[in-house]
Amino acid sequence: MDFLHRYEAVSGQLISQAKSSFYIGKPAPASCRTIVYSVTGFQRRQLPFIYLGCPIFTGCLKISYFDDMVRKVREMISGWANRLLTFGGKLILIRHVLSALPLHLFHVLHPPSTVIQSLERLFTRFLWSDSEGRRRIHWCRWPAVCFPVDEGGLDIRSFDDMAEAFEIKLWWRFRQQSSLWASFMKSKESVVSGTITGWALAPYIFLTLQRLPRSIVEQILLVPISSEEPDLIRWDLSPDGTFHLQTAWELVRCTRPRDEVYSIIWQRHIPSRVSFFLWRLLHGFLATDDALCLRGFHMVSRCVCGREAETLGHHFLDCPRTRYICGHYQRILGMRELGFLSPRALPPIWRRRAPSRNHLWVLMPCFILWQVWKARNAYRFHSQSFLTDAVIFQEADSISCLDETISWSGHSVLEVESDSATMVSWVHSQGPVRWDYSYLLRRACHLISSASIQVRHVLREATSAADFLANWACSHRSSRQFSSPQELPRDLSGIIHTDAQSITYVRR
Ligand SMILES: [Zn+2]
Repeated sequence: MDFLHRYEAVSGQLISQAKSSFYIGKPAPASCRTIVYSVTGFQRRQLPFIYLGCPIFTGCLKISYFDDMVRKVREMISGWANRLLTFGGKLILIRHVLSALPLHLFHVLHPPSTVIQSLERLFTRFLWSDSEGRRRIHWCRWPAVCFPVDEGGLDIRSFDDMAEAFEIKLWWRFRQQSSLWASFMKSKESVVSGTITGWALAPYIFLTLQRLPRSIVEQILLVPISSEEPDLIRWDLSPDGTFHLQTAWELVRCTRPRDEVYSIIWQRHIPSRVSFFLWRLLHGFLATDDALCLRGFHMVSRCVCGREAETLGHHFLDCPRTRYICGHYQRILGMRELGFLSPRALPPIWRRRAPSRNHLWVLMPCFILWQVWKARNAYRFHSQSFLTDAVIFQEADSISCLDETISWSGHSVLEVESDSATMVSWVHSQGPVRWDYSYLLRRACHLISSASIQVRHVLREATSAADFLANWACSHRSSRQFSSPQELPRDLSGIIHTDAQSITYVRR
């Protein structure tokens, strides 16, 4: 008690008798328990108990010690039920919230495999279920997603691997002897087992040296060793010799070969829901008719083009509508129309032809595939027509929403000239804005500020060709691409010809 009184005096805190208890082993005689109780006044309690979220126990590790932690995960997931979370949103919650919950426990305990399996089951159900928590198809087993993204996973770490890495960390701290805990454990181990062998390896080193070729022995003996410096343990897997959990995790985990296509689809310019869709596409985890047939859902199948049954390969590769949309952008960007073997080959091919790694072209195929899939779902589930022009418009819209700086077709500065003085003044934040244009204007201003675009006013006479085309598009209510001067409307050819001759344009 003297120790506790001194603690109270030093810290200024008081020890509550009602909240304090003592634990004593079963073999201890009853008289011993009575003495402790009479001296301290504390209640006697039994193991196990929870201290700072970690079970303190003797004997074998039991599954029931982890019930509390599994319950917390389950409650957290049920708290998110009925919320409209996208797959990307769920993925972020799993990576950064759910996966972090049990980690403090894994620092000191390696949980039984049953506990790990039940956690992984909860995560799998959360990822693949719909917003109301109804079960949907689980497209893959949980271990398949526990890889870094560039190895085809979802950047989620397996609990088994993490628990093993934490065990290594614990062992490292024990061997390094740099903490109070390590010194305590070392003295305890010495008492229990007598001695620890430590670094008594000298006889083995000499035996090994005798068997090695002379040239290698000479090289080893050339290594300068200072007898004055203390021996230090170095972690071989990190360059500075200090322990990093990341390197321990890399050591224990399974690896898969890296693939360039994953580094394209998981870049920061692409929203996570789009990246997750592309990941599903590359692994064949999309609910196309052929994939559903394989899982026992037999149905009459027809692609949006009405020509063939819907398969993943046809919809994203051979379907004339998809090819038209891809071809449209390839023509705009001056690329030769590409034949490609699979959707997997599409992003790397565009990347190789792009002028730089973060060029707009790199992102374009990702958004094309995303919009093609969205249009297919709208056609299938909301009876909306699959219009290629509408998909092209949506694609352009999603590209324009990118909120990071990206290089535009190799140009560093774009100059936009408009004959509408009102619009130019709005862009430059001068004058009141019509409320129904305010949203569009905000987006335009954001785009202008992120991509070095200069906007200025010119008289309509200077934009006669653009003016003509805008009127033409409004009257025809469709988009069309002119690939040669011969295809242009006759009046427009006349305007361009007049402009080339520097003849003043007179507005009609
Ligand atoms: Zn088709």
